[in-house]
Amino acid sequence: MNFAWDETDIAYREELREMLDELPADWWDEYAAEGPASPKVMTFARGFNAKLAERDLVVRHWPESYGGKDASAWKQIIISEEMWSSGEPRSSLYMGSNWAGPAIMRFGTEAQKQKHLRGIAEGRVLWCQGFSEPEAGTDLGNMKTRAEPDGEGGFVVNGSKVWTSYAARADMMFLLARVGGKGKGGVSCFLIPTDTPGMEIRPIAGVHSLYDFHEVFFTDARVPGEALLGEEGNGWTIVQTVIHFERIGAARYEKAGRALHHIVELLKQRGDFDDPVVQADCAIALAAVEAARLLTYQVIDGRVKDRDPGANTYIARYAMIQADHAVANLTSTYLPDLLVQGGDGHLRAQFNSAITAGLAAGAAEVQLNMISGRYLQLPRGA
Ligand SMILES: Cc1cc2nc3c(=O)[nH]c(=O)nc-3n(C[C@H](O)[C@H](O)[C@H](O)COP(=O)(O)OP(=O)(O)OC[C@H]3O[C@@H](n4cnc5c(N)ncnc54)[C@H](O)[C@@H]3O)c2cc1C
Repeated sequence: MNFAWDETDIAYREELREMLDELPADWWDEYAAEGPASPKVMTFARGFNAKLAERDLVVRHWPESYGGKDASAWKQIIISEEMWSSGEPRSSLYMGSNWAGPAIMRFGTEAQKQKHLRGIAEGRVLWCQGFSEPEAGTDLGNMKTRAEPDGEGGFVVNGSKVWTSYAARADMMFLLARVGGKGKGGVSCFLIPTDTPGMEIRPIAGVHSLYDFHEVFFTDARVPGEALLGEEGNGWTIVQTVIHFERIGAARYEKAGRALHHIVELLKQRGDFDDPVVQADCAIALAAVEAARLLTYQVIDGRVKDRDPGANTYIARYAMIQADHAVANLTSTYLPDLLVQGGDGHLRAQFNSAITAGLAAGAAEVQLNMISGRYLQLPRGA
């Protein structure tokens, strides 16, 4: 594994940074502190994404035939590092480019590829993820939302989803619904517009933002047959693929790392950094950030070499959660006055996303279960 970036990687990062120079001066305080699903960020993202697309910056790592540049998977982690650590000005475009698009590429029909991939590559279409339900989060196989065949090649969807980020302002949903079957059998994937009649989206206030979460209700929502991704009832294979892309798709270590540098600067300005205990705490956080970075790079390296990620994705994800928590703990311990409304937008944004890091994209404990079973080969219940 070679950790040096090549010239194209360096040039790509520089181009992205040029684009990020255009963020408004009050970006962290006014925009990013409410999270990437806030109406302000989502509105801003529409214009920003179009500019990224004009310069072919959105999906360099995709094949040219779908709007990419045939570049390696390293480009995906570079854009993720730059954008996520800057408050994700693309909003949920990353969902499309990181996992919805790749899933469509792998499992979709040619017609689905033609219909959906350009919209992501051109930064026009924002996706959201309709997986979790009131009784099916970690235990996703327990989902109850049903898609009944309508006898004419389409489906009628009834049920509800919860915690759906971005839903109110996204264009498309990657929906999981059950077409018969039990447990993981019968689960099917659908690609549907968020304005599908019979679909109602209601916001849920979260602990730190009014905009992150939604409930989505389906009442006799009619979905055409061409919205089905892959085979009917065989969606679980697609979910497994999506999970590997999704869990390390957002470069949380980079956001935590840049917040950590900001913390150190502030502690120095306040004259608090000379304390060896403070220095040791900052060093521990830095070690967590760099460990998460290298574990993530190990997964990307495997992706470039077409290797099965095995348990490496779960190890990297758990390390990212640890890094996020270590940096958020520094802020709450040494700079708590900056976490209040009107405090430091950058630190508030990192702290807010760290609160939910151990639950979003699968609970931390579940990552540990996967590591114990698949990596350490411990028996269940050990
Ligand atoms: C910021 C954020 C954004 C999200 N965005 C989306 C989204 O866009 N779309 C979407 O579909 N969902 C989304 N979710 C939901 C997320 O996927 C679920 O919260 C997650 O899968 C956990 O499910 P749950 O909330 O039902 O918790 P549960 O499954 O009830 O788990 C609660 C706790 O129980 C414990 N636990 C449960 N099962 C096990 C087990 N097998 N072993 C050990 N411990 C266990 C864990 O401690 C866990 O934290 C989001 C969540 C967050 C926090």
